[in-house]
Amino acid sequence: MSDKPHQNLAVIGHVDHGKSTMVGRLLYETGSVPEHVIEQHKEEAEEKGKGGFEFAYVMDNLAEERERGVTIDIAHQEFDTDEYYFTIVDCPGHRDFVKNMITGASQADNAVLVCAADDGVQPQTREHVFLSKTLGIDELIVAVNKMDLVDYSESDYNQVVEEVKTLLKQVAFDSDNAKFIPTSAFEGDNVSEASDNTSWYDGPTLLEALNELPEPQPPTDAPLRLPIQDVYTISGIGTVPVGRVETGTLNTGDNVSFQPSDVGGEVKTIEMHHEEVPKAGPGDNVGFNVRGIGKDDIRRGDVCGPADDPPSVAETFQAQIVVMQHPSVITAGYTPVFHAHTAQVACTVESIDKKIDPSTGETAEENPDFIQSGDAAVVTVRPQKPLSIEPSSEIEELGSFAIRDMGQTVAAGKVLDVEEPN
Ligand code: GDP
Repeated sequence: MSDKPHQNLAVIGHVDHGKSTMVGRLLYETGSVPEHVIEQHKEEAEEKGKGGFEFAYVMDNLAEERERGVTIDIAHQEFDTDEYYFTIVDCPGHRDFVKNMITGASQADNAVLVCAADDGVQPQTREHVFLSKTLGIDELIVAVNKMDLVDYSESDYNQVVEEVKTLLKQVAFDSDNAKFIPTSAFEGDNVSEASDNTSWYDGPTLLEALNELPEPQPPTDAPLRLPIQDVYTISGIGTVPVGRVETGTLNTGDNVSFQPSDVGGEVKTIEMHHEEVPKAGPGDNVGFNVRGIGKDDIRRGDVCGPADDPPSVAETFQAQIVVMQHPSVITAGYTPVFHAHTAQVACTVESIDKKIDPSTGETAEENPDFIQSGDAAVVTVRPQKPLSIEPSSEIEELGSFAIRDMGQTVAAGKVLDVEEPN
């Protein structure tokens, strides 16, 4: 199984549109849920009077089991098709997908957008599609779900397809390449087998579409960047920072530097999946121990990199942002919280340098007084506390962020340039 290329897959969409049910259905149809787990949940679902067998219920329980067993590695749901070995990078609905996408815990190659046929495009549909595009998801497969609730109507399906296409165009996703599939996660239509209920549809099933996804780009040869998620003290070992290797490799014996805390030392041990390993690469969730580093020397939001090529720290940075939803307007001086990898830092938008046309990337206005929902712009940003971040052209994985304010994602962006302190 593991000799197939690997794909990290996100499943996105508005709450209750059927993401968990679809993930449960995919795992079930690919034989990835152990029989005893299915049996057990069938019984429990029946006992609790749930009509029939709820796949979402399986997902809830898998998530719970996972939470109980988890220490430092983040467990994922997995399944495979003929071509690929898939990891669902988020178990949607059970954690804050948006936050995870931003902090990098959910860095996916491609995504399935689940949009209910009876409800159409909703606020979180927009939010997730928007973030997917900004944070670098390549391809979307759109499952127009709950087709059973609209009697498998072709015209209802087409209407939702049009709504989603309009949304994709707004964020400059290539909607001509996106695949649209009428599904019922609940009934199993067009997930692994073409459904008789949608005889008007002659495209691929969801599993076929997943199988036909392009192969993810191999990791770049960027230097080590490992954003720190948490710092633990473990008896017998000492201080153990944990996090996910975004780029490069971490080896025992390496001399590393943590920024912006600006401390460093030699890597003594690396642990992954409860075992000691000599090295770790992109995508690996690790705990490690560095000679001479104490618990209070480093913190969440620090980035670990090679001592001779340390992570950048921004005095200011220039970025391209897209404003997704803001109740009024954004002007110079606005200071919301920026979420970049595992860091959350208040940053001031010092100047709005230009407004750009999101579809062409050309300058629409120099030095505008304000920007608002739907606008794309280049801005100069000053973090209020030291922040390690990289130009996305150099290290894409450490070059994106989301701007959160009033409990929602206001904007997202990519770093163009970093000005380091002198
Ligand atoms: P999520 O919030 O997007 O993860 O949505 P869930 O998977 O939890 O589903 C929300 C509700 O919709 C649950 O009661 C599901 O049983 C139901 N549901 C999901 N998919 C379908 C579907 O294809 N058809 C019907 N009729 N109900 C569905």
